[in-house]
Amino acid sequence: MSHRIGIIGLMHESNTFIAEQTTLIDFENDLLLRGPSVREKMADSLHEVGGFFAGLQLAGIEAVPIFMARALPYGTISAETADILFERLLDAVAEHAPLDGYLVAPHGATVSANHPDFDGDWLTLLRERIGQTPMIATLDLHANLSARMVAACDAIVGYRTNPHLDQKERGLEAAALMARTVRGEIRPTMAAAFPPLAANIERQASAEPHWKPLQDKQAAQLALPGVLSNSLLYCFPYSDVPQMGSSVVVVTDNDPVLAQKLADELAAEWWQRRDDFAGKMRSVADAMAFVRTHDGPICLLDMGDNVGGGSPGDSTILAHALIETGVKSMVILQDPESVHHAESLGVGHRVTLRMGGKCDRLHGEPIEAIVEVISLHDGKFEETEVRHGGIRSFDQGRTAVVVTDGGLTVMLTTRRTAPFSLRQLTAFGVIPEQFHAIVAKGVHAPTAAYATISKHLIRVNTPGATTADMVTLNHQHRRKPLYPFE
Ligand SMILES: [Zn+2]
Repeated sequence: MSHRIGIIGLMHESNTFIAEQTTLIDFENDLLLRGPSVREKMADSLHEVGGFFAGLQLAGIEAVPIFMARALPYGTISAETADILFERLLDAVAEHAPLDGYLVAPHGATVSANHPDFDGDWLTLLRERIGQTPMIATLDLHANLSARMVAACDAIVGYRTNPHLDQKERGLEAAALMARTVRGEIRPTMAAAFPPLAANIERQASAEPHWKPLQDKQAAQLALPGVLSNSLLYCFPYSDVPQMGSSVVVVTDNDPVLAQKLADELAAEWWQRRDDFAGKMRSVADAMAFVRTHDGPICLLDMGDNVGGGSPGDSTILAHALIETGVKSMVILQDPESVHHAESLGVGHRVTLRMGGKCDRLHGEPIEAIVEVISLHDGKFEETEVRHGGIRSFDQGRTAVVVTDGGLTVMLTTRRTAPFSLRQLTAFGVIPEQFHAIVAKGVHAPTAAYATISKHLIRVNTPGATTADMVTLNHQHRRKPLYPFE
């Protein structure tokens, strides 16, 4: 008998410290799909949902695309939007039921105004609908795992790399586990452990040496008989929810005792090494000293305005500091008003603009300068390399490239766009190698792209909605005690 497996994705990284809410339009602008369009849009992607399709095909199992929703990281999802998403999801599930299994892609750090444990809640609702049918989930490495997520799923497979370059691979892994499960070859059981710590965002690059001992222990566990999968979930500090914090999941073949023992061992090792996961902060002044004394190109990672973490993408703090140094530098700012001014004059004209620093009071004052309009664009570009997020088509809206008399190049975009791709520059005639310093608004996600052209990448502890200094965020709901807070 041939098996049929449903495919569902519902994901958002919700920064609860941002005042503005994420609404349905934000999902419509990214992904809000049902039925066959999920396959059309996702099957060939490098996303985990692409991995689901590819993995089921490899196993000769029919994939049944059900639902896919995703929005760019931003503020808490509104209650109304959450209700609509849940309703549409369950409606789509009902349309295709019954199936032999479900491969699901929550993010793990999704929060709505009415569901602080958004992922735990929709996974539980789905579980109630499908009874004992196998359900296997992938999770972003930034997940804040909850007991409800664990209870709802038969197995959870987290990303292993940050930047996230293994999303498709993890989707393939989940699909392979599902194939073996529905054929009766394995019976996944899972346990989680929650060490009382939150890994600082600045320490979350998976290739850095402080992760090696934990990764080695992970590999040793995976080599044991009966161990199917294990994941380290680093946490997303910008969700102020009870489940915020680092966690571990281990999946075994029908051996819950072993799963718990191994999860506890990984958590204990992590706790022992907790000091390695506290932020090592570089101030803006220190960063500028570095810029003055080192060869370029230097990529400055603007941690306080991390677009992939929900920030507005219009912080001027590093740009102001770079203007002071006088080096040739470049920044991308979300500023539709300035794009409009530049467009109304046209290429080659000079105009006084007030750029960036407009979304709120956290991200610096606007840069007021006379600029020359260098070029104007529709803002669409394509990325074919393996990059964080597995996104192929980008649309940052109408775009203007301008340069100040002082040598600062500013790319002004209409829409907030995370700097995951160098095509964001090169598609619009900006050659990154020509700058001494380039600002990338992120912590780790941009590095897959920017490392290819930078002599140095340095993370800067800028203030903002995604400050790396999480102790200053004033969480109200997180679990306690939690290192480094207590
Ligand atoms: Zn992530």
